[in-house]
Amino acid sequence: MAEFCLKCFNKLNDTNYQEKDVVLEDDLCEGCAEIKPCIVTFKSRLGKQRKGLALLLIMAAGIVIAIKVLCH
Ligand SMILES: [Zn+2]
Repeated sequence: MAEFCLKCFNKLNDTNYQEKDVVLEDDLCEGCAEIKPCIVTFKSRLGKQRKGLALLLIMAAGIVIAIKVLCH
């Protein structure tokens, strides 16, 4: 994967990511050819939503089990 610093990435993709939105690691930026904090991964908001959904499913499963136990 090509490594880009936040500034180059935003310029190339016409985005406006902030430092809090990404995980940065010192690497050679392919945009400005300098060792800079480059984007390693995005702190995905979707990931948080998925975790919430997984928790909801676990809770729902727990309720179903509890109902089954109580009805016996
Ligand atoms: Zn750069």
